[in-house]
Amino acid sequence: MAQLTDDCFAFGGQLMSVDDALALIAERLPVVAGIETVPLHEADGRIAAEDVIAAIDLPPFDNSAVDGYALRHTDLAPNGETRLPVEGRIAAGQAGREMGSGPSAVRIFTGARMPDGADTVFMQEDVTVEGTKVVLPPGLKRGSNRRLAGEDVAKGTTIITAGRRLRPQDIGLAAAIGRPHLTVRKSLKVAVFSTGDELAEPGGALSQGAIHDSNRVMLVALLKRFGAEVSDLGILRDDRTLLAARLTEAASAHDLLLTSGGVSTGEEDHVKPAVETVGSLVFWRLGIKPGRPVAMGLVQGTPFVGLPGNPVAAYVTLLFVVRPLLARLGGEDFGPPLGIPVRSTFAYRKKAGRLEFVRVSLQRAADGLLEAVKFPRDGAGILSSLTGSDALAGLPGEITRIEPGDTIEVYPHRMLY
Ligand code: AMP
Ligand code: MG
Repeated sequence: MAQLTDDCFAFGGQLMSVDDALALIAERLPVVAGIETVPLHEADGRIAAEDVIAAIDLPPFDNSAVDGYALRHTDLAPNGETRLPVEGRIAAGQAGREMGSGPSAVRIFTGARMPDGADTVFMQEDVTVEGTKVVLPPGLKRGSNRRLAGEDVAKGTTIITAGRRLRPQDIGLAAAIGRPHLTVRKSLKVAVFSTGDELAEPGGALSQGAIHDSNRVMLVALLKRFGAEVSDLGILRDDRTLLAARLTEAASAHDLLLTSGGVSTGEEDHVKPAVETVGSLVFWRLGIKPGRPVAMGLVQGTPFVGLPGNPVAAYVTLLFVVRPLLARLGGEDFGPPLGIPVRSTFAYRKKAGRLEFVRVSLQRAADGLLEAVKFPRDGAGILSSLTGSDALAGLPGEITRIEPGDTIEVYPHRMLY
């Protein structure tokens, strides 16, 4: 795993903004993911590691966009019908042919190469056939129903830029220009731990004071959606020495260490001090709610993020802090998600200086606009607010109050992963 120097970060004061934390991450963390070449059918969701340049025109040759009759536009009568003899036939996949020397039409099918000299195609629905002749109505423009070589992609165009997370359509375009494989970033190796003496695996009976570990499966599932190769390393007890040892042990084999719980200011919050003994903190406590105690640091040169224990806080910080960090380490070109403007149905008060996420459902109002309805309970521990909502409404730092009718920005869960 790549080793990062830990002296490159300045401790940024008490409550760093999420934007500042992300700028620090983007500026100081290198891309650590290696590269490999994969066949197209394995490329979906991977990060392109090279620019892909079209070596051919797309389409490679002029061809017909419809089933019909190809001809020279100059053979058409200027006003009124034209009768042309049909001389020949060309279907998709057949080699090219020439137009006859005199006025004539060639029967042609969608995707077939245009005969040399032809520049216009009549749709078969628009003509009538009389024996060996085709009767063509007036008014069709030159070039109609013809697809020019290179009109989709011209040879030499960059079709995929390094850093792009490949989507099915990117892979389709790569195939269209003749690439059987693509060079992509290797998956990042992420170690995930839960921390807390109260945590138990789901399945057994709960002892007094215990709760089931819900963060780990949720975080692992999210990380997999981002293409990470995840090591699920279980639950760690609230013990500083043990935490320090297990993080150190995992550091050498992973690109990122992720924990949840134990990063607040309580006496039983041992993750942050553990990291300080075997590595160093880069930031701790961001202007984000829920999620404020999130910590980031380096353990033996490997990036570490300590997410808060409360499930909603863990979810929010995974999406808005860890996601961009993963993109950086993985060589992905990543822009912040675009919030969708919708109308608030609720009033809300918040502190300035923190980015706050409220769980909302979306509905269409009588005037056709989308409205956000707030989930009735706000707590960072209300996991059902995530299953019972459509989106997170992101209320930025400078906002302190929302009134019904105000425009707010929402991030539907399904847009975030
Ligand atoms: P902590 O940050 O460790 O103080 O935890 C804050 C809250 O989150 C406490 O109520 C914990 O019990 C809860 N919590 C911590 N880790 C998990 C987890 N993995 N799954 C569910 N709840 C958790
Ligand atoms: Mg705890």
